[in-house]
Parts: sequence; C-alpha cells; structure tokens
Amino acid sequence: MSENDCIFCKIVAGEAESEVVHDEEGVMAFMDIGAKAPVHVLVIPKEHVSSLQEVGRLPDGVAKRIFEVAQEVAENMGIAESGYAFRINNGPDARQEVFHLHAHVMGGRKMGMP
Ligand code: AMP
Ligand code: ZN
Repeated sequence: MSENDCIFCKIVAGEAESEVVHDEEGVMAFMDIGAKAPVHVLVIPKEHVSSLQEVGRLPDGVAKRIFEVAQEVAENMGIAESGYAFRINNGPDARQEVFHLHAHVMGGRKMGMP
C-alpha cells in the first residue's frame, strides 16, 4: 500500500477522523476504532514506514518516543499501574492489517498472549 492510500497517513494529515490522545512532532496516538480492550490506543510515527522492516528509516529519536508516548498515554488513561500490553503486529503471520507501523497499547483488563 502506498502512502497515498494509507489510512494512518490520512489521520496524521487530518484528512480522516480519529480520536487523538497525543500529538507531537514525530509521533501521534489515537483511539483504536475497533477497541479490543477497555483502553486501546495506537501509537504511530507520523512518517510513513510500513512495518519494523523499515524502522531504520524513522528520524532519530522517533522509535524511542513511541515507547515513551505509550507509557505517557497509559499514565493518562489510568492503566500504567494495573499494566498494559504494548504490541506491534508485524507482517502477515502477525496478522498486520494496516501497513503503517503502529504500536497497540491495550489495558483495563488482563491481557493474555494470543
Ligand atoms: P494491526 O495492523 O493488525 O496491528 O491492526 C490494525 C488496527 O488498526 C486494528 O486494531 C484496527 O481496529 C485499527 N484501525 C484501523 N483503521 C482505523 C482507524 N481509521 N482509526 C483507528 N483505528 C483504526
Ligand atoms: Zn501511512
């Protein structure tokens, strides 16, 4: 999928609706539209990279910020103490559906491995 028809690029550009919970220079976080947990947020780099295969293309510091923003969002949403799953579905065997790198932050209930 090209950057042009990427739904997450459209969210970054403000061309598609989303419930944004964090917005900074290189990183954004918004509510997952198909929440699979009481709290389900996606943290993404604003720059389009399809998956971890292209993570090296991200500007310096962005990958680190994805981790830090996940923790900040978890604190703001009250699940930092109870805990949360931080998960990246990468590629077909992980059933990645949206090919713009994103990390799921899921909590508010016990989160098991699949
Ligand atoms: P995956 O690629 O398997 O990690 O999953 C993609 C995730 O993106 C799913 O949990 C979807 O519910 C979510 N998703 C897809 N489109 C949107 C959207 N427009 N806004 C928010 N979340 C979305
Ligand atoms: Zn994209």
